[in-house]
Amino acid sequence: MAVLPIVRLGHPALRTPAEPVPADRLGGAELRALIADMIDTMRGAEGVGLAATQLGTGWQLFVYEAVDPEAPAGGIPLHVVVNPMVEPHAGELLYDWEGCLSIPDLRGLVPRHPEVRVRGLDAAGEPLDYLATGFEARIVQHEFDHLNGVVFLDRMRDLHSLAFYEEWESYLRERQGAELASRPE
Ligand SMILES: [Zn+2]
Repeated sequence: MAVLPIVRLGHPALRTPAEPVPADRLGGAELRALIADMIDTMRGAEGVGLAATQLGTGWQLFVYEAVDPEAPAGGIPLHVVVNPMVEPHAGELLYDWEGCLSIPDLRGLVPRHPEVRVRGLDAAGEPLDYLATGFEARIVQHEFDHLNGVVFLDRMRDLHSLAFYEEWESYLRERQGAELASRPE
């Protein structure tokens, strides 16, 4: 399999809603090859998630994984979600930093639901139905947005926190999301 180029903001694929993977393609060789390429590309770019639209592909699927040896259970294991439905649960929106492989070098504070219900299909076409919370919920919402032509910039309440990566590391990384987000709207 292969590490493929990730399309960047301005590519029409990022602004085009994706189509469901047709039933006759589920579990098939073409879909499996795409999933393998998406996983390789995500890992090659050191990202924690990738939507198919970021490879210029118009199918509804995303992958995510956040390996962290210091986190409980080693972080978030690899997930593949095909034809996802993501539904927020009640709870106050939480602000935290996001970046995007299609918008390289920028970080910004994005409000997200703290918990979402994820339904869809796995790589083999078997049903999925689970709850994602915290960082995993944030990743899922970010990737699901990509399948609807939405990027994290669209979700920012304002652009005051938008920063280039080096400046973010120097000045903003340690600041709390809530502190920086508590600006009048
Ligand atoms: Zn992204």
